[in-house]
Amino acid sequence: MVDPVSRRAFLRMSGVAAGVAAIGVDLFSERELAMAALPTEIFSGTAMPPADAVLINFNENPLGPSASARKAAIAMLPQSGRYLFPQQLHLAELFARQNHLPPDHVEVYPGSGVALDALTLAFTSPTASLVVADPSYEQPFQMAGKHQVQVHKVPLRADFSHDVKAMAGAAADAGLIYICNPNNPTGTITSRADIEWLLANKPKNAIVLVDEAYIHFSDAASVLDLVAAGKDLVVLRTFSKLYGMAGMRVGAVAARPDLLAHIQALRTGGGAALPVMSVAAAIASLNDPSLVPTRKKINAGIRDETIAWLRKEGYACTPSQGNCFMLDVKRPGQEVAAQLASQHVFVGRSWPIWPDQLRVSIGTAPEMLRFRKAFAGVMAGTKTAMLQPAVPRGMEEWSAIA
Ligand code: PLP
Repeated sequence: MVDPVSRRAFLRMSGVAAGVAAIGVDLFSERELAMAALPTEIFSGTAMPPADAVLINFNENPLGPSASARKAAIAMLPQSGRYLFPQQLHLAELFARQNHLPPDHVEVYPGSGVALDALTLAFTSPTASLVVADPSYEQPFQMAGKHQVQVHKVPLRADFSHDVKAMAGAAADAGLIYICNPNNPTGTITSRADIEWLLANKPKNAIVLVDEAYIHFSDAASVLDLVAAGKDLVVLRTFSKLYGMAGMRVGAVAARPDLLAHIQALRTGGGAALPVMSVAAAIASLNDPSLVPTRKKINAGIRDETIAWLRKEGYACTPSQGNCFMLDVKRPGQEVAAQLASQHVFVGRSWPIWPDQLRVSIGTAPEMLRFRKAFAGVMAGTKTAMLQPAVPRGMEEWSAIA
């Protein structure tokens, strides 16, 4: 672990040294990589997507904020002239109470990605390396790459879980070990037993960061209770996925106060106030007990139907419990993505370790039928529709909502 004082000194130093080549890391941003697959005339970095676009590229939730979240946000609008820090504190306390954590173990951020960058800066350095799975969410190693941090990528196991044994042994100087559970892009689970093993066997100074952005969609066991138990552990949550609030920017970090102090030192903007309407929507989401089970069921129904159809057509998919999965298209994935994009179906990207696979996010039932139709056409070598599938059983609810 890096103490906050030497961390600040390191940041000053790394600012001066910015531009030095990263060590074995991929420096493209999520957006740059996705855009690389898209015909610029219809979906450039500056253009809005076409009106009929199927956007299954960024693991967003097509349902958006829940009805109660929308109502709460709108009700908060007249008070948006105030900073309302107590409301932000209330959100952190509510999250802590619901998860049986002491209130000083939780902080909220304008998106979990902001906290993820701060955690990477806080716990890695040129002498404290980063250990990540491959493929996994790239943001930590992209940030590490900008700061001359050594990154160790460890392939997933054959069952698509994190190889915790290999990750624990990857670097004696590890400062941060990143576990995304369920994993982005595979949607696959790493067991609680494996995470407990990692906490017990990691290099002494390493912090384990478990990113639970997609946990609400899955049956994976959360490790939030291990935060309360005082482990060298940080857990990240977001309101961007199941809660459908990606554009509203709310995330939460749970850790021991001494660990939170490291990222507080990096907090910018006079403490980083969150948008008050977003905080109101997040509180309403947490206070709606039916939201997680209802949306989990909707997502699982459409995901499992889509994967079953693809497998029947002869295409391997990862056994996802999230709102995305990896699809083996048996040829360069970016080519297939570009052909789909020409039909306004925008899927995710490939990872360098699996160039023939594409990430597909879960959209609404009609959107996934558009995806199937376009995919069947592209794979058959035509751009025209090959299939006219009806709404499959179990997807009607999603169709009705969408
Ligand atoms: N963590 C994971 C695994 C993600 O996939 C994402 C976004 O896609 C984030 C964190 C960042 O999410 P946000 O900043 O919207 O909370």
